[in-house]
Amino acid sequence: MFKKILVANRGEIALRIQRACRELGVKAVMVYSEADREAKYVKLAEEAVCIGPAPSPQSYLNMPAIISAAEVTDAEAIHPGYGFLSENADFAERVEKSGFQFIGPTPESIRIMGDKVSAKQAMIKAGVPCVPGSEGELPDDPVVIRRTAKSVGYPVIIKAAGGGGGRGMRVVHTEAALINAVQMTKAEAGAAFGNPAVYMEKFLQNPRHVEIQILCDKHKNGVYLGERDCSMQRRHQKVIEEAPAPGIPRKLIEKIGERCVAACKRIGYRGAGTFEFLYENGEFYFIEMNTRVQVEHPVTELISGVDIVKTQIMVAAGERLPFAQRDIVLRGHAIECRVNAEDPYKFVPSPGRITMWHAPGGPGVRVDSHVYTNYFVPPNYDSMIGKIIVHGDTREQALARMRTALLETVVEGINTNIPLHRELMVDAKFMDGGTNIHYLEEWLSHHKR
Ligand code: ADP
Repeated sequence: MFKKILVANRGEIALRIQRACRELGVKAVMVYSEADREAKYVKLAEEAVCIGPAPSPQSYLNMPAIISAAEVTDAEAIHPGYGFLSENADFAERVEKSGFQFIGPTPESIRIMGDKVSAKQAMIKAGVPCVPGSEGELPDDPVVIRRTAKSVGYPVIIKAAGGGGGRGMRVVHTEAALINAVQMTKAEAGAAFGNPAVYMEKFLQNPRHVEIQILCDKHKNGVYLGERDCSMQRRHQKVIEEAPAPGIPRKLIEKIGERCVAACKRIGYRGAGTFEFLYENGEFYFIEMNTRVQVEHPVTELISGVDIVKTQIMVAAGERLPFAQRDIVLRGHAIECRVNAEDPYKFVPSPGRITMWHAPGGPGVRVDSHVYTNYFVPPNYDSMIGKIIVHGDTREQALARMRTALLETVVEGINTNIPLHRELMVDAKFMDGGTNIHYLEEWLSHHKR
């Protein structure tokens, strides 16, 4: 096992990784920008290194600063968390070339999966079902583009091969709008992701977002830890996640899970990863793979009893997975609410000083957050300040626990989306389970304040 790991991230995930390190008896070096001096994990750290000013290009995205922080502190490995450099193959490569272990897959795996066209091709080869669409990248020839769209069938969605974070996508309903939409998406993709390649998929009208968590070691062992339903989204950003996904037959999940593990073995994948699917009319369609730990990993941890972050570290150190597929038993139901510093209905970010923070507790309640009373939420980063996660024997019990937890939560001094979560936890359709990816936005448009 490593003696020392550098945590190249901030916020709740930095604290989460610090906790995992402590449990493993591994020293964690925390890095921070000038805006994050006061974060809980920095105060709790045995060692912490300031890597630059608040803007992330100068700190959390600053590869030389992060690698030299690992050098001066004698860390052996770097955990990238999620976001920032976590899916940057060049960073993973530089980390390994500098003699550190990157806690994640190989740069080659990140590269294959980071390009959505090559990811899809790899999945098709592995027998993972994908959304029907163009065979790889769209060419420039308008005749071919029109022919492709006709055979896929309208509406179609034009997506950037290098896209991410819900950006670089355009839905096209008619042939008249097609060529212009392709050209615009290409131009935007070139500017935003440095890669103008785009591809085409059938636009599914009312799917759910269901994803499979996998964990692999360096010895060709892999397991899937069931699925998560992340359909409650706004602007392609997840707001509420749960596991298992309501109403999907276990047999179908097993079939897809096995295919995902087989795909991992084919590409020599190691570490934690997530296969994201759209689920419609009883069918799964792969859309992309995330080659890192995800925000919503705790719901899977609660139903499987597997510590995903600790396992990531163990397999990066070369250990074998301590369990096989038959050892994975999923129990009960878990729900996560992301707590954002923002206006609950207008979504305007609300950074500033938290004058009062009271986290909920009790059986089956978990809070992952780096904030505390008198903490200043910096305006420079993502608005998520923590996550409330509950576990119950049934979905009904988990919902009741979440309502209780949200009632107990007190945050003063800034706005948060907790009032929105309180309303959603008593919404009849959400309580029924199985709402699609448009449900939250439709709900918001009917509940204008
Ligand atoms: P990103 O990497 O930007 O998150 P994804 O490929 O994961 O991009 O897609 C993000 C979201 O866009 C999905 O969760 C879904 O809401 C929507 N989406 C993507 N592809 C399709 C599709 N073929 N049909 C319908 N919606 C889609």
